[in-house]
Amino acid sequence: MKRKTDCTHKRRSYFGVWGTDLSLASQSTIIKADFVQPFQVEGTHVRGQLIRLSDSLDAILTRHNYPQNVSVLLAQTIGLSSLFGSRLKFDGKVSVQAQSEGAVRLLVADCEHDGAVRGFAQFDETLCTNADIQNESDLLGRGHLAITIDPGTAKDRYQGIVELSERGVIASTLSYFSKSEQTLTNLKLFASAPSSSASSWSLGGVMIQKLPPPEERHLEPTHQALDDWEAASALLDTMGADELLDPHVDSHALLFRLYHEMGVRVYDPSPVRFGCSCTRERIENILRTFSAEDIQDIVEDEGQVRANCEFCNETYLFSLTDLDVMGIRPDTLNN
Ligand SMILES: [Zn+2]
Repeated sequence: MKRKTDCTHKRRSYFGVWGTDLSLASQSTIIKADFVQPFQVEGTHVRGQLIRLSDSLDAILTRHNYPQNVSVLLAQTIGLSSLFGSRLKFDGKVSVQAQSEGAVRLLVADCEHDGAVRGFAQFDETLCTNADIQNESDLLGRGHLAITIDPGTAKDRYQGIVELSERGVIASTLSYFSKSEQTLTNLKLFASAPSSSASSWSLGGVMIQKLPPPEERHLEPTHQALDDWEAASALLDTMGADELLDPHVDSHALLFRLYHEMGVRVYDPSPVRFGCSCTRERIENILRTFSAEDIQDIVEDEGQVRANCEFCNETYLFSLTDLDVMGIRPDTLNN
């Protein structure tokens, strides 16, 4: 199937937003934005989300300053958590976690219902900076990918787990939807590092799924529904990193390029921002659970306890006086 690669100003008055005053982005304008834009391919059961991240992603990755190949993998994980988090209809969060036996041991990203996203990685520095080990399949070994929906109460927590694909976290996610949820899914997600032409990290992508309305989910899909899915998925397959990351093309123009032949309806976008839930008070509460002996073990030579948030790299310092006020006494001070 062919699709147009050039923007046109042709509008379809019966397609929701296309009938409104949709202004296509000027080719000279750099668009920086952080959001997930839901959409539906008109008259079909194909629902989708377009994602664009810039400042939020850049804030996370520059705080960590990981090797670039690790940052790209974490960026993809952050993109996935943002896509899933933006779907939450309640006060909670979605975590995406990849654990592997490879050079990258752990990738974690979570997104709150209000779009606050954060993430971190654990990896072998020597292996990850080895020029011979740069592909995702070389960085990730055997392991699993877990997607956790956490409504804040342990009772209703949901976790789906799938084997980690050697082809990376995106391939693993597709495998999860295929095996665990039996939902036809296609996903393109690309991250781009700062360069001579871009001052910050950015991420762009589109995910589509065949999601019939609830009353039809128990029915066998019709030939038409499957044809619609195949067409929408084939069109998405024609889209590469250059288009999904193009900072000169806004989300409406991108969706118009992709699905103008089938028609597309867009819904209100959900904003995404960097945000970490760590606070000094939370760290204090964790320290209060430590024994005096454990506290003694982490008191530094300077006479302070240093606690680092893995998600945002924020450091919290507690002097012995601070600990005393909190009612915490290192072991030696008790003698
Ligand atoms: Zn933090």
